[in-house]
Amino acid sequence: MSTPALIPMIEQLIAAPSVSSISPQWDQSNEQVIQHLADWCRSAGFQVEVLPIPGHASKFNLVASAGKGPGGLVLSGHTDTVPYDEQRWQSDPFRLVERDNRLYGLGTSDMKAFFALVLEAVRGLDLSQLKQPLTLLATADEESNMCGAQSLLETNRRLGRYAVIGEPTGLKPVRMHKGISMEIIRLHGRSGHSSNPALGVNALEGMYRVIGDILAWRDELQARHKNPLFEVEVPTLNLGHIHGGDNPNRICASCELQIDLRPLPGMVLQDLHDELAQRLERLMSGSELRLEIITPFPGIPSMETAADSEIVRTAEQLTGHTASSVAFGTEAPYLQQLGMETLILGPGDIDQAHQPNEFIGLERIQPMVGLLQGLIRSFCL
Ligand SMILES: [Zn+2]
Repeated sequence: MSTPALIPMIEQLIAAPSVSSISPQWDQSNEQVIQHLADWCRSAGFQVEVLPIPGHASKFNLVASAGKGPGGLVLSGHTDTVPYDEQRWQSDPFRLVERDNRLYGLGTSDMKAFFALVLEAVRGLDLSQLKQPLTLLATADEESNMCGAQSLLETNRRLGRYAVIGEPTGLKPVRMHKGISMEIIRLHGRSGHSSNPALGVNALEGMYRVIGDILAWRDELQARHKNPLFEVEVPTLNLGHIHGGDNPNRICASCELQIDLRPLPGMVLQDLHDELAQRLERLMSGSELRLEIITPFPGIPSMETAADSEIVRTAEQLTGHTASSVAFGTEAPYLQQLGMETLILGPGDIDQAHQPNEFIGLERIQPMVGLLQGLIRSFCL
């Protein structure tokens, strides 16, 4: 039995809805995508495991592997897409449409097509000839809570020595990205009539001091950390949302600030959270305001793979490009924690990801299949 032809595979993956979202009204199972991949990987001769994700009903990871050995290559991607705005699409997001030498559909660039390209790259390959294992890894919920990658980490399973994640990088290798974390800072005071400040405790005035301190912290972080390989070479901290109080003539009883922090490789999310908490506790000590800091999601760690790693060097040779950095987060830090030297290299473009009328250029397909075959040759044959 053989796998379907390439374009029909992409077509079926796009037609299988797998939106993941922290909003329950959008969130869907990824089972249909996983089932397609499981069937095709079995046809191609892989040993297939479908792994339900504990605590997340109807979400699955897939591990399909062939060959044995201490090294090996893992080709990894996420099966989910972001939600879509149907009004802004020119065609049905779940129907693959070819137009102007492009394939349009939700998840073409980011990143369901990648799986079909992996299966295309191994078509006709005698898996019994593998000297090191080749694994296809497909995860759930990368776009929402990363529970797929996290559950793999919890099983602490060894999958291979090297990994390539096919996120959209325009066929250029990427070996580092920043992390992402968010914090919600709340100050609780007491309301009262504005005519007498002694009647209340003003949370808005407290937040003014908090913002001053956070901006000073940002300056310190940017003075301490710099990496010229990034387009924005310092860690960033954005004040993204603030809400407090109700009326000009009432003392503001509570105020909430939301910030986004993007650390460089080498900066640890937990350390940053602790540092922020210590600073703000110190700032607010002696005040009647109560401070609350909430981390709304676990965050994505930064990642960096050494420039002289075998996977980086091989990909640089195959593509003719020096490995660089990107501004988005991926599952790479989780794969690295599982012991894999990880590179990000995929056929799509990040400009198309998360956009209406997402597409992948047809001219990207054969080069990516060729790159995958080169990687498999280098690490498995
Ligand atoms: Zn993606």
